Parts: sequence; C-alpha cells; structure tokens
Amino acid sequence: MNLVEGTGRAMGRGITGAVMKLLHAQDYRCEVTRTWMHAPTMKAVRVSAPELCAQVDPQEGEYLRCWFPDLQRGGKEAMRGYTVVDVDKQAGEFTLLFLLHEPAGPASHWAASAQVGTVFEASYYGSAPFLVPEPAPRGFVFIADAAGIPYVNALIEQLGEDYPLKVWLVEWHASDRDIELGNAPRLEVEWIQPTEAALLEHVKGFEWQGWFPHLICEAAILLPARRYLQKERGLGKKDMHVHAYWAQGKSMGKNRDA
Ligand SMILES: Cc1cc2nc3c(=O)[nH]c(=O)nc-3n(C[C@H](O)[C@H](O)[C@H](O)COP(=O)(O)OP(=O)(O)OC[C@H]3O[C@@H](n4cnc5c(N)ncnc54)[C@H](O)[C@@H]3O)c2cc1C
Repeated sequence: MNLVEGTGRAMGRGITGAVMKLLHAQDYRCEVTRTWMHAPTMKAVRVSAPELCAQVDPQEGEYLRCWFPDLQRGGKEAMRGYTVVDVDKQAGEFTLLFLLHEPAGPASHWAASAQVGTVFEASYYGSAPFLVPEPAPRGFVFIADAAGIPYVNALIEQLGEDYPLKVWLVEWHASDRDIELGNAPRLEVEWIQPTEAALLEHVKGFEWQGWFPHLICEAAILLPARRYLQKERGLGKKDMHVHAYWAQGKSMGKNRDA
C-alpha cells in the first residue's frame, strides 16, 4: 500500500481527532490485558484503551506519550514515548513493545513488572502516521536501534511491497539481534557499531540521491549523521524524519506530579 493513500485515512479520523490535536490532547486510561516476552529483552504489553482508540484512532507506527511512576522521585510520574502496534480499533486495543534496558528508567522498570490489570495513562498529541512525501522517494533508509524496531517494523509492513528499504541498526547489545524484524522483498539489513564515527562513516558512504532517511536512534549518535545530511547532502526538514528516541546516560521526557 502506498501511504500517500494514508492522507485520506488520517483525515478520516474525523472531527474528534482534529479537535483533539488542536486541544493538544487529554490523558487516556490504559489497562494491561496481556503481557508476553516478544524477545528476551523486549516485553510486549497488550493494552485496552477504548476511549483513546475511539477518539484518536491511532495508526500503526504512531506513538503515545505514556506516564509511568518515577520511583527515583517519589510522587512523580515520567512521560516516555512508545510506538503503537497491532491496533484493533473495534476492540479498543493495541500493543506496546518495551525494551528492557539497563540501567532501567521509569518506563522500562514499569514494563518489567506490568501485569494484567496494571493501569497507566497515555496522552496523544496527534503524532500522525508517516505519509510518503511527494514526489515519492526512490526508497527509505531507517537508522534505528532496538527501541526503534517497533516503528521500523510498522513501516516495513506499510512500505515494503512498494519500495526498497534499508535498515541500519545500531547494535548496543548482542541481544538486539534477537528482536524480530519484518520482511519485505527489497529489504536490506545492516548492523552498525554504536559509535558516532561508525554511523557517520556509513552515512557518508551511501549515495543519498532520492532516498528518504528516518533517523530514530540514540541522540548523540544521531546528531552528527543528521548534521552531515543537512549540510553536506542538502537534505531539509521535509526530506527526512528525525526523532531522537533516547539519550545515553540521561533520562528523556517530562515529569509531573502523580
Ligand atoms: C517517538 C518515540 C517512540 C518510541 N518507541 C519505543 C518503543 O516502541 N519501544 C521502546 O522500547 N522504546 C521506544 N522509544 C524509546 C523510549 O521512549 C526510551 O528508550 C525511553 O528513554 C525509555 O524510558 P525509561 O524511563 O526506561 O528510561 P530513561 O529514564 O529515559 O533512561 C534511564 C537510563 O536508561 C537508558 N536508556 C533509555 N533508553 C534506552 C534504550 N533504548 N537503550 C538503552 N538504554 C536506554 C538511558 O540512557 C538512561 O541511562 C521511543 C521513543 C520515542 C521518542
């Protein structure tokens, strides 16, 4: 399916979705209905959120800002982004896939102990599904790591029949390779050492003409690659999707009173 068609789908959320975007969201109650290990280091949490699904109709690959207790700061909650997959709008359910990283933060800590009946809140700010730009690119390059695999898989599913896809995965741990990647006829996967230099070298060695990059890896590694693509290859904001997913040695995201 060509995601240009997705424009209609996104608009098809109707007036409520549009109003929610303008109002900049509310918090929705989410309840865990099932958990399982998606991979040895990634826990899947099936979530029931009928109001969220009915009002904002989240699409595969969009993300939610979820609120989890911050045990380091008593009485506070931390907001963290997680990608929505396997959406069942009718049932009002979807799945979130949590990388169980070390050191753990509020989100990974919460996920490790989440069980049926655990409740949390999520905010939706209208993250919008990815739409293929016009004119359509020659293909897509995903620069991600384990935390980005849920997003990459959602897009492989949506783009893989129509476009060549290259997935460059920054390998922080050998166990990252146990997280299953989607399949597509023209999909190429490469693993890259977790250094700025290794990723930059890879980025410099690629002929970018016509390709659309998604940069969704760790912040410090992402930055030089983004700068290079902007300054040396002339890619503008519209020519790539850039979103740092996490920062080594730091917590990312807001806090609020619980
Ligand atoms: C749009 C978006 C979508 C995302 N989707 C997903 C998703 O579907 N699944 C998923 O697992 N993550 C996803 N992430 C990444 C996730 O939000 C971050 O990894 C987040 O920082 C984890 O929060 P935490 O509370 O566990 O750790 P934090 O409190 O943020 O950090 C605590 C410690 O953990 C380290 N850390 C944080 N994240 C990682 C990591 N990924 N690998 C290794 N060390 C880490 C930090 O460097 C820090 O030392 C997404 C991020 C964004 C912005």
